Amino acid sequence: MGRASRDKRDIYYRKAKEEGWRARSAFKLLQIDEEFNIFEGGVKRVVDLCAAPGSWSQVLSRTLYLPAKLSPDRRDDDLPLIVSIDLQPMAPIEGVIQVQGDITNARTAEVVIKHFDGCKADLVVCDGAPDVTGLHDMDEFVQSQLILALKLFFSVVTFAKPKSSRNSSIEAFAVCENYSPPEGFNPKDLHHLLEKVGTPSGADDLDCSSGWLEGPNKVYIPFLACGDLSGYDSDRSYPLPTVAEGCSYQSLDPVQPPIAPPYKRALEMKKASHGIRELSLDS
Ligand code: SAM
Repeated sequence: MGRASRDKRDIYYRKAKEEGWRARSAFKLLQIDEEFNIFEGGVKRVVDLCAAPGSWSQVLSRTLYLPAKLSPDRRDDDLPLIVSIDLQPMAPIEGVIQVQGDITNARTAEVVIKHFDGCKADLVVCDGAPDVTGLHDMDEFVQSQLILALKLFFSVVTFAKPKSSRNSSIEAFAVCENYSPPEGFNPKDLHHLLEKVGTPSGADDLDCSSGWLEGPNKVYIPFLACGDLSGYDSDRSYPLPTVAEGCSYQSLDPVQPPIAPPYKRALEMKKASHGIRELSLDS
């Protein structure tokens, strides 16, 4: 698909380039904020997990860091701290500390904690998803485990479907509010705790036979559509602006191509194999 036709078919892709976002995902976070006001209440320490190429970090920088930096009451020791983590390298973003690492590695968490001087984060955003195996029972089990784990630590959990997330995709975002870990919770025991709640090995402790997850104990997670619902529809095609309408359309380059995309090596290998083929055809 050419860039012009993608601009036409994906309005959020086009808008992202016009507004300087590295990825159309920026709109998803902005639309989640429209519904949940996640940046309100004096958010000072933020972690962006699975951040590359960085459009969510851009949102954090533009919404939290830059207004604080440009404020007439600016205090350098009180600027928001934003730490972004990804396996892939990212081009710099003003006000964002970047950590290249695996979010599942405890050492990565230690790096973040160090940046926050041991204080807790006010907001954690994450655009990663558990890998799917294709074995549907297994995938559903892992997803249920994730939901149970979330309900254990937050009193309010909602699934949000931003308008910029295509209806044709099952993607949704879990918005977890009011962090309230179980009494006596020790983060070092996290693995054992999740094991008890979400795996068959913990089933005995839960006593499923006595009607657990039935009646008032049944867990329902609300599902909410968010973003301006009369706004752009990510599943629709929009005509490109024409000169007749007083606008001239020009397809823009992506704001920031990935620094080290996983497909880079494949392209290099393809190029190299073409070179060899051309050589052997010449000889
Ligand atoms: N929110 C990003 C944005 O707006 O630009 C897009 C994130 S992209 C959908 C998912 C990212 O998750 C990829 O860049 C990938 O490298 C990262 N990722 C996947 N598994 C990871 C892990 N275990 N640790 C760190 N990053 C991971």
